[in-house]
Amino acid sequence: MNYKKALKHTVFKIVSQSVEEIQVDAYVIGGFVRDYILKRGSAKDIDIVAVGNGIDLAKQVAKNLPNKPKVQIFKTYGTAMLRHDEIELEFVGARKESYSENSRNPVVENGSLEDDQNRRDFTINALALSLNKDNFGDLLDPFNGIQDLENKIIRTPLNPDITYSDDPLRMLRAIRFATQLDFTIETESLNAISKNSSRIKIITKERIVVELNKILESPKPSVGFLLLEQTGLLEYILPELIALKGVEEVEGQRHKDNFYHTLEVVDNISEKTNNLWLRWAALLHDVGKAPTKKFHKKIGWTFHGHEFEGSKMVYHLFKRLKMPLNDKMKFVQKMVLMSSRPIVLAQDLVTDSAVRRLVFDAGDYVDDLMTLCEADITTKNSKKFKKYHNNFKIVRDKIIEVEERDHVRNFQPPISGEEIMKTFNLQPSREIGVIKEFIKEAILEGDIPNDYDAAHNLMIEKGKKLGLKVSDHD
Ligand code: ATP
Repeated sequence: MNYKKALKHTVFKIVSQSVEEIQVDAYVIGGFVRDYILKRGSAKDIDIVAVGNGIDLAKQVAKNLPNKPKVQIFKTYGTAMLRHDEIELEFVGARKESYSENSRNPVVENGSLEDDQNRRDFTINALALSLNKDNFGDLLDPFNGIQDLENKIIRTPLNPDITYSDDPLRMLRAIRFATQLDFTIETESLNAISKNSSRIKIITKERIVVELNKILESPKPSVGFLLLEQTGLLEYILPELIALKGVEEVEGQRHKDNFYHTLEVVDNISEKTNNLWLRWAALLHDVGKAPTKKFHKKIGWTFHGHEFEGSKMVYHLFKRLKMPLNDKMKFVQKMVLMSSRPIVLAQDLVTDSAVRRLVFDAGDYVDDLMTLCEADITTKNSKKFKKYHNNFKIVRDKIIEVEERDHVRNFQPPISGEEIMKTFNLQPSREIGVIKEFIKEAILEGDIPNDYDAAHNLMIEKGKKLGLKVSDHD
């Protein structure tokens, strides 16, 4: 098969010319070829393998490119990278690898194209297109990766047991590709992942998170999390989710399986938003349910305070996985902490003051919170499903209405502590806090509008009730 069409970009002509000049063979390999055949849009990362010195080839290509880009050389890996337009070209010499027990970093020696294809993780990632003059565009596919692309199958070129044990990151990559591409992991491979799951311990947290994020960014993330669970990997990576598995029954009362519920919520939210951190919030919104679960004779199962417990767990989980402990983490915490608030509203009559409080507490994230709560509706009772969605629609409309009228989203108290001190001639004291809180409550309850005059009057009134005297300067 010939794929000249895939190599239309001028950069390939220049690589081909450079190959001729320095007398090496070279091939485009991996993701670029896979994604071209899958019609996933042309990849911006292009991997080129040279049978010979990859760094020399990169230098020659840079010389031949009109803008003479800089070549970044990574000596330890024998690779080189350069940018041309929006494209990133990565060059590597063909290599043969052998692994030791304790590391995913192999001993490397020079090899043939075939050696290099053998070291690739999956048949669909081992496809290579020739950049050499005599067979430009020819496909080299020793493991029938094309067939696997057609049948949507993830398979390793060599014995999967050895492939996964050598570099356990490949287990996560298999599951990630299966999720992203909606492919099936071939049975022998899946068994090998289960067998080697504990080897994931030698992989750095950062690399694990890269794959987790890619799974979460896929159209239907549950595919990946179910595979992680089924192979035993999830227990090592996110034991908090495993703890949500199962349905307990006491005195005929059952609670729902919060693991499968969580995955449904993640899939639901992924249909509405590409925001990775909102997807993380969906994944973790119920983690506090495992440690707070209790059975009471009269009321059945409860998960009191699971939102607060869950938001604390978010911090520990992010820390353990070496994820950023920044505003993204705080956002996820806030979503988890507030995840039940709109649900309470949706079950009852929605009052203005409840909505005002929600907007006040959620601030700029109120829309994200509503999206999370709508995704959280997984009831199979169609009547309830409709009712909850309808009520959330009412909440959303009310949010807009209350926002336009009361501006409590980023609430700034209309009366400052300083003004209260001046008005009553006070030193810093408890009364100032009491008056401020009283005014805030009155605004949120809707007793007074959110404006200066009304708040000023209420301040005087409350101050007098507290036995304070208005100072002469006021
Ligand atoms: P994506 O860009 O979606 O991550 P990709 O296949 O381009 O997909 P890269 O991580 O850029 O992924 O890897 C480029 C190529 O290198 C892969 O297609 C594969 O051939 C090879 N590869 C990457 N990681 C491994 C690994 N852990 N073991 C074996 N081969 C690998």
